[in-house]
Amino acid sequence: MNLTEEVKKLYQEYVMPTYTRLPIVLVKGKGIKAYDIEGKEFLDFFPGWAVSGIGHCHPRVVSAIREQAKKMIHVSNNYYNELQARLARKISEHSFDGKVFFCNSGAEAIEGAIKLARRFGHPSRYEIITMENSFHGRTLATVAATAQSKYQEGFAPLPGGFIYTPFNDLEAVEAKITDKTIAIMLEPIQGEGGINVASPEFLAGLRKICDERKMLLIFDEIQTGVGRTGKMFCYQHYDVVPDIMTLAKTLGGGFPIGALIAQKAIADTLQPGMHASTFGGGPLACAASLATFEAIEQGNLVTKAERRGRYLHKKLSHLQKDFSFIKTVRGKGLMQGVELDIEGEAVVNKCIEQRLLINCTQKKVLRLMPPLVVKNTEIDTAISILHNVLKTVARKT
Ligand SMILES: *Cc1c(COP(=O)(O)O)cnc(C)c1O
Repeated sequence: MNLTEEVKKLYQEYVMPTYTRLPIVLVKGKGIKAYDIEGKEFLDFFPGWAVSGIGHCHPRVVSAIREQAKKMIHVSNNYYNELQARLARKISEHSFDGKVFFCNSGAEAIEGAIKLARRFGHPSRYEIITMENSFHGRTLATVAATAQSKYQEGFAPLPGGFIYTPFNDLEAVEAKITDKTIAIMLEPIQGEGGINVASPEFLAGLRKICDERKMLLIFDEIQTGVGRTGKMFCYQHYDVVPDIMTLAKTLGGGFPIGALIAQKAIADTLQPGMHASTFGGGPLACAASLATFEAIEQGNLVTKAERRGRYLHKKLSHLQKDFSFIKTVRGKGLMQGVELDIEGEAVVNKCIEQRLLINCTQKKVLRLMPPLVVKNTEIDTAISILHNVLKTVARKT
């Protein structure tokens, strides 16, 4: 039995089988490279759903965590913590004039956004409109906000008050609004839903509706945020600013952290005692996140994501000429999806054999989200692997 098999056996015995796992045990990473327990090297074009969004073990993040760990690992939120204050300012400086609540995951950030919206609408307005094919997390409330039945089956009763509507369909949204509606929540690009990009008209229309009806516009930027799409935040591609934005994934450069930022006029809705998180905004997480922003600013990584993203998109689009089963290539920056006519699982598995890590969502959409530090030569390598793999798949179709 090799080392991978040994670990798999332990999982079978002791870990709940909640995930479909690829048969690799990752033990080490550096930039765009990941290494498994057998010593194999992989090109990581899907670093933890963009958690390691600036690459594995970015030196700035590693040293920030190391230095902070020597000083203090946790400060509870009944004291002040300088790093939390500085990180809140940093997020606001890069987005809008708001105040931040810190937590530990994406779902927790969405929960916070839901509670904030409900408290803001209290007592008469509590309904939140969300989009079909959205993904907002796995807690009961966030799974209720996620308009995909496969995530909800068997978990009833779910918290109520979520109304679903098709993505990019403004009229459908308008038809769902009642005097109980307090907010509209969506991802500017649906990640898990298949890299579905919001149209400028849709987001502008939602902003207008929310302004007219005094409703809150919530952008879930947990996957799209922190440079991924070639802007610091995806909404900055559009002429629209949200009232609330949720963040996680890349925010900690690999370290768990979640956050929501709300416009100043709304943010004071949550008063002492109304919401909390024991670990939220702890010094290690904030140090890692501040280092992540530093790395992005000093490495000019947002601009690079935009350029490299354009290159990746172009290269992926070229594949369409050779493979008729590629329907579309879509996305922004370094968040790209390749929709196939066929199932993508075999493609992902064959890519792994060729030492390239990618993802497939909604069964047919290959998802590529390389770290912001990716180079064009690495994109070339990934594309050539993908090309070879698609050739073998094509022969079978
Ligand atoms: C990953 C994700 C979440 C959930 O985040 P967790 O940290 O897994 O709870 C929510 N929304 C979007 C858009 C995501 O991509």
